[in-house]
Amino acid sequence: MTCELAVNCPHFNEGPCVRPQTAALFKARYCRGNRHQCARYAIYEQLGREAVPPDLPPNEHLRAMVILRGARSGIRPALR
Ligand code: SF4
Repeated sequence: MTCELAVNCPHFNEGPCVRPQTAALFKARYCRGNRHQCARYAIYEQLGREAVPPDLPPNEHLRAMVILRGARSGIRPALR
């Protein structure tokens, strides 16, 4: 089943910062595969849609972890 965020997810619809082959891989692995392994989806699940940075690729798990840890401790990370 395709991720329920796909309609408005920039990485599903445009693949803003990756080559077409990489975007296709992301879609197969995360969007149509296992969304629970997607870094964007992890932030959405815990903090809501508004907290997901538009430019965060689905495979940037370290950045997602920093955002999630910062949210838990009340610190907003300055990572982009
Ligand atoms: S990139 Fe992640 S959040 Fe976006 S549609 Fe794919 S699985 Fe869902």
